[in-house]
Amino acid sequence: MDAAADPRVQIVYSARFRAFSIRHLEPGEAPGTIGPRPDFRRIIQVWQIEFCPWTGEALPGDLNDEYRRAVEQEYGIEDWSPFERYRRLPAEFLSDAWWRKRGLATHITNPAAKARWRRPQIVRGKIVETTLATPVYEDWPKWWIGSYVFLPPGYRRPGGTPPHMCERMHSALGDIRAMISYLPWTREYGIRILNPRRAADYQRLRIRPISFCPWCGRKLPESLRPKLRETLSQRDYPISDPEVDASPALYTAYEYASELWWRKYKMRPIRRKLTKAEKRADERFARKMARQRKRDLAAAKKAAHAAKAAR
Ligand SMILES: [Zn+2]
Repeated sequence: MDAAADPRVQIVYSARFRAFSIRHLEPGEAPGTIGPRPDFRRIIQVWQIEFCPWTGEALPGDLNDEYRRAVEQEYGIEDWSPFERYRRLPAEFLSDAWWRKRGLATHITNPAAKARWRRPQIVRGKIVETTLATPVYEDWPKWWIGSYVFLPPGYRRPGGTPPHMCERMHSALGDIRAMISYLPWTREYGIRILNPRRAADYQRLRIRPISFCPWCGRKLPESLRPKLRETLSQRDYPISDPEVDASPALYTAYEYASELWWRKYKMRPIRRKLTKAEKRADERFARKMARQRKRDLAAAKKAAHAAKAAR
């Protein structure tokens, strides 16, 4: 979880509320640096997480309710205006000091850490690459994730069928503003890495790979990066570091720039029922070919006969 201290990795820790989250960025919004001295003038949008994405352990959970209760009971402040309140509260309420002092360090609030919690269910879904064409009826039930075409390139999600997709992961992948990514070519999930001073709009896709789903805690499938590196090195294609550039190198064959190589999809011709006219045309063509074959056979026989006579 040391990634939460790295301003480039879009996972944040709020010491005041003891909450770990994945950033949610609007197009054009720069992540900014969230250091030890938080910027109170700014409210950030986040996707709070329940599990450590690297160890799979359930997190202790946020102290939002406890914070509000402490502020209300001890200072009689009931209005929930985030900016006004800070001027009236002591400094301990701006860091983790308030909950450590009140002995809340061992207080678990994460519903996922409790016995009666129900894991988010697995759902089916597909990330469809953005095109100008609207989804056709035959494509359903397919999930159109991030189907908005006029996106800045930094917000595009590569198309594919993520092997792990619980309800929560599905909604996160369904929202282009959630800074979590799925790489179909290496079967990796990861937290986006961004230059904190710039908006994600024109930043390349870079991730820090994760091994557990941050919302349901299930183990994510093994990364295929070592296997892809081996395969690509035989074909003289380079493979880059996901933290430097996660996208496939230019001119990489489409097979290796998608899920095709590891899913081993078979390309099947589309079969459909022929119309009556097409059927008649087919039969006509077959009869014509049969006649042609007959003529050819006869001609070959005649030629053979003539050659025999000549000898
Ligand atoms: Zn999950």
